[in-house]
Amino acid sequence: MNSKRSTKDSGQPDLSEGELIACHECDLVHSIKPIPGGGKALCTRCGAFLYKNIPNSLDRALALNLAAFMFFIMANLFPFISLKASGRIEENLFLSGALALYRLGMAELGLLVFLTSFLFPFLIITGMLYVLLPLKFGHRTWKMAPVYRMVRVLMPWSLVAVFMLGVLISIVKLLDLAAVIPGMSLYIFVGLMVLSAAARANMDLSVIWPPMKRVPMGKRSGATAVERDLIGCHTCALLVPETNRDDNGHKACPRCGSHLHSRKANSLTRTWALIFTSALLIIPANVYPVMTVIRFGQGDPNTILGGVVHLIEGGMWMLAMIILFASIVVPVLKLTVLSFLLITVQKKSQWRPRDRTLLYRVTEGVGAWSMVDIYVVAVLVGLVNFGAMATIRPGIGATFFGAVVVVTMFAAHSFDPRLIWDNTERPK
Ligand SMILES: [Zn+2]
Ligand SMILES: [Zn+2]
Repeated sequence: MNSKRSTKDSGQPDLSEGELIACHECDLVHSIKPIPGGGKALCTRCGAFLYKNIPNSLDRALALNLAAFMFFIMANLFPFISLKASGRIEENLFLSGALALYRLGMAELGLLVFLTSFLFPFLIITGMLYVLLPLKFGHRTWKMAPVYRMVRVLMPWSLVAVFMLGVLISIVKLLDLAAVIPGMSLYIFVGLMVLSAAARANMDLSVIWPPMKRVPMGKRSGATAVERDLIGCHTCALLVPETNRDDNGHKACPRCGSHLHSRKANSLTRTWALIFTSALLIIPANVYPVMTVIRFGQGDPNTILGGVVHLIEGGMWMLAMIILFASIVVPVLKLTVLSFLLITVQKKSQWRPRDRTLLYRVTEGVGAWSMVDIYVVAVLVGLVNFGAMATIRPGIGATFFGAVVVVTMFAAHSFDPRLIWDNTERPK
C-alpha cells in the first residue's frame, strides 16, 4: 500500500509538529508524521521520495542481507557459465571475465567490471550486516556511521542487475557459436539480484537513525532549509543548523558525522567539465572496436554500432535495440538533458521546475544501464577462448566507452537539482 501525503492547495507543508526533514531534491522543509505501514511520503512540491514506514524493517532487512551474503559466497564457488564447442568444454567462474580482461592487458576495464559487479555489491552487503546485526541486539557498533556512509556512496555503483542483463545478452550472442551450459552459480546470481533489491526496498532509515525529539531550529523562518539556515544531512536526513561544526571546524551532522553542504560544491562548473569530457570520449568509444571476434585466424573487429548492425543482420532485433539504446541513445540523451538543465539553471528559468526535477531523476537512474555493453565484452572475452577456432579479444574502444559511462555518471551525481528550485517563485 502506498500513501502519498500532500498538503492541499498551498504547496506549503504544515510544519507544526514532529521532526523536520528537507527534500533532498528541492530543499522544501516538511515535518515527519506517522504514516501507515508500507507507505511512503513524497515531497509535496517536487514529488521526490522523503521517507517510508516498513514494519519490522530491522528484521526484514537483516534477514535479506544475511541471505544475500550466503548467496554471494555460493555464487563464487560454482561454475558460472560453460561453453561446449567441438568436444571441448570451457568452464568459467563468476570472476573469469574481469580476470580475462586483466590478463589481456586491459586492467582498467577489468577493474571497472570487478568493482561494479563484485567488490561494491559485496561491500554493501557486508556493510549493512555490520550495521544491522549489532542493532538487532540493541547496540550501535563502532564506526557505524562511516560504514553506513560508505554503503550509501557505493549504492549507485553496485550494478548487479545490469551485469545480469549483460550475461543474458552474451548467452544469446553465443548460441550460434557453441552450446551454452548455464552453471549453478548463474541461478544463484539471479537469486542474489532479487535479494539485494528486496534488502534495499525493506530498509527503513529510521531503524538506523531513530527520530530525534528536539526539533532543530534555524534563525529564520521560510519554506526551504536554506531560508531557515538549516542543512539537510545527505546520509541520515537530519536537519542541522548551519552553524553546527565538528572538531575540525567543518559543517557537520551531529548524528552521523557527515560533512554538510547546503548545495553541492561548484555544481555547475563541475558538471559542465564532466559533460565536455564525456562528449569528447564518446568519439574514440565509437570509432575504435570494442571487441574483435577471431575465427579460424580471421579477425573481425566490432565497433559498438557495428555490433548493433551484426545483431540486426542475425535477426536479433530485440538485442540490437537494447544495445543501441543502452550504449548510444542513453549516453547522448543524458548529456543533452544535463546540458539543458544546466542552461535553464544558469538562465534562472521558471519553466516547469517539477518536470525538470523529474527529468533529472530519470536521467540519474538510467545512466548505469549503459554499462551493459562493457559486461557483454567482459563475459564474451572470458568465455570464448577456443584458440584458432574462435577467440574474442577486447578492443580499446571498450575502455573509452567504460570511461564515458563512468564520467557521465559522475556528471549526473555532481548536478544539484535544488538549483532548479532556488530561482523559482513560490506561492506565498
Ligand atoms: Zn522536493
Ligand atoms: Zn547525518
